[in-house]
Amino acid sequence: MHVLSAASSGPSRMMTITIQDFSGSPIPAAGIRRLMVPLSRLQSTYGRLLRSGARILQVSNGLASTAATPGSSTAGSAPAPAQPAKAARKTPAKAAHADVPVNLYKPKTPFVGKVISNDSLLKEGAIGRVNHVTMDLSGGDLRYVEGQSIGIIPDGLADNGKPHKIRLYSIASTRHGDNLAGNTVSLCVRQLQYEKDGEVINGVCSTFLCDIAPGAPVKITGPVGKEMLLPADEEANVIMLATGTGIAPMRAYLRRMFDPGERAKNPDYAFRGKAWLFMGVPTTPNLLYEEEFQSYLSAYPENFRYTKAISREQKNSEGGRMYIQHRVAEYADEIFSLINLDATHLYMCGLRGMEPGIDEAMTTAAATRGLDWKTLRPQLKKAGRWHVETY
Ligand SMILES: Cc1cc2nc3c(=O)[nH]c(=O)nc-3n(C[C@H](O)[C@H](O)[C@H](O)COP(=O)(O)OP(=O)(O)OC[C@H]3O[C@@H](n4cnc5c(N)ncnc54)[C@H](O)[C@@H]3O)c2cc1C
Repeated sequence: MHVLSAASSGPSRMMTITIQDFSGSPIPAAGIRRLMVPLSRLQSTYGRLLRSGARILQVSNGLASTAATPGSSTAGSAPAPAQPAKAARKTPAKAAHADVPVNLYKPKTPFVGKVISNDSLLKEGAIGRVNHVTMDLSGGDLRYVEGQSIGIIPDGLADNGKPHKIRLYSIASTRHGDNLAGNTVSLCVRQLQYEKDGEVINGVCSTFLCDIAPGAPVKITGPVGKEMLLPADEEANVIMLATGTGIAPMRAYLRRMFDPGERAKNPDYAFRGKAWLFMGVPTTPNLLYEEEFQSYLSAYPENFRYTKAISREQKNSEGGRMYIQHRVAEYADEIFSLINLDATHLYMCGLRGMEPGIDEAMTTAAATRGLDWKTLRPQLKKAGRWHVETY
């Protein structure tokens, strides 16, 4: 294992970086190594280590011997890794995903599936309309993995008289489907509704999907997307930032990690890392898949953590509405301790409007550790650890 460190104050203060399984040539391939660097060089060293494949376990002030154990937790803190994470994977993320299916069905020749069920995910008093729609894929070759999306072509014609264009939806089920039979796909769809010139406008495809009845045919394309795939590492730390229907891919990840039927289906993926879900919704009745997540909390309290931001019910530290970025700011220390671990991946999904708030929270949190988020974020992305899908 390896350690990275810095302390005192000013650009000459020293930091310790603890690293493990460094794959760069000048340093032995195993064991812990501590690098002392001045604060002014922390950012560049950190980036160089990330790019080189080193697993960064810790960045701490001053001497590493005084630093806390990487991922160590105090009451209410982030769960510590169950055991040291595996060595940094040497295969580039893209090459590792070469076998992920994409574009099996194109818009001109979509697969025609059949709706099996279409149920509201909301509780009484919720705002808007969000449905869980499950479709039968039998008779085709539409395969997918967690984190991908499919396209839907709604029935009818657009204003120009041509068929509607496709809309993408994140897949909310695992590759085995909700029934574990491997022949269904599920979506989490919010009906788009807005007012224009005093008239309520319903989104074409989201309304089509929220209204569609079991038994109805539905044109499906894809799957698409490799941005949001889960790492194969069973000991990874997975931090998930979701707002609204952005929960869809996270629901699939969490099922893959913790659902008993899924675990039985996946002998090669017995997740034992840390999964931390941050979920943003306007009201408690708007929470999605709550029962599933509560069951994972009961069964895997050491591996699953769930933090909610309920904007219209909870207050942030300044007395305003509690959005997900406020939760990120609140837990910044723990989040950054985890980010220091090479086995940690971050996922963000939801409406595009969530991005600036998260960026701001991460920028502030990084700065208190002598890091520049604008530099660190692309480094994490390049390392295949920062995954974003906003729409
Ligand atoms: C990768 C990806 C994954 C996605 N995953 C999901 C998902 O899991 N669940 C989900 O529900 N959606 C998801 N979406 C969004 C989805 O693709 C559609 O965009 C959404 O359902 C709206 O489509 P629609 O046909 O209902 O709306 P449309 O009829 O296409 O209307 C959308 C248009 O309405 C206009 N409009 C929207 N809001 C307003 C407003 N307030 N005022 C004025 N004009 C406005 C804009 O011009 C906008 O382009 C995803 C998108 C992407 C790209």
